[in-house]
Amino acid sequence: MSIAENIQKIEAEIAPGAKLIAVTKTKPVEMLMEAYDAGFKRYGENKVQEMEMKHEQMPKDIEWHLIGHLQTNKVKYIAPFVSTIHSVDSLKLLQEINKQAAKNNRVIDCLLQLFIAQEETKFGLSEEEAKELLTSDAFRELKNVRIAGLMGMASNTDDEEQIRREFRSLKKFFDELNSTLCAGEATLTELSMGMSSDYLIAVEEGSTLVRVGSAIFGSR
Ligand SMILES: *Cc1c(COP(=O)(O)O)cnc(C)c1O
Repeated sequence: MSIAENIQKIEAEIAPGAKLIAVTKTKPVEMLMEAYDAGFKRYGENKVQEMEMKHEQMPKDIEWHLIGHLQTNKVKYIAPFVSTIHSVDSLKLLQEINKQAAKNNRVIDCLLQLFIAQEETKFGLSEEEAKELLTSDAFRELKNVRIAGLMGMASNTDDEEQIRREFRSLKKFFDELNSTLCAGEATLTELSMGMSSDYLIAVEEGSTLVRVGSAIFGSR
């Protein structure tokens, strides 16, 4: 199947509850343009430099999602154009995003990345840390970032029940935050979970944004 057909198939599978982010890391601009020419405009990259380069080369009506670990000293490069940063895992990083967003007269959508996998290698906050961040005075001062939701990555395992449990725990925490901390003003709307191997499970468990790469563009 072509790139456009893969996108069409996945969008049909995840509708109407979730939106697709096509993860294009390591893939050449020609492949992204193939999707763009078919009308697709939401892309995810995990490296700042690569996203910056592709942003320069491609049409400007694209939504760019940063999904990989972000270092504070690199925020300035993407602040002028990034749509959503999925990988916020510290107050310090959020403060830097706020600062750079202000310089660009923007409000940048951010997702807090929660650690949900049974692995040592993934980045992310614990539920306690996320609550602490969201209730801190320092966080309330930030006017140029908006916490739109949460992001999580399940364990890299064949055990579907384990993956489902991990997604379910993130959804539960998402609902809990919406009914307590954020009651009233800032409601969380986005739950970014699911990749090529597990996006169908993620959508069943309440994902609103799936980040799919290899199932669209082939293996890396
Ligand atoms: C690479 C990546 C994806 C997509 O992975 P695929 O298995 O190719 O779908 C999703 N999320 C993050 C954070 C990634 O780094």
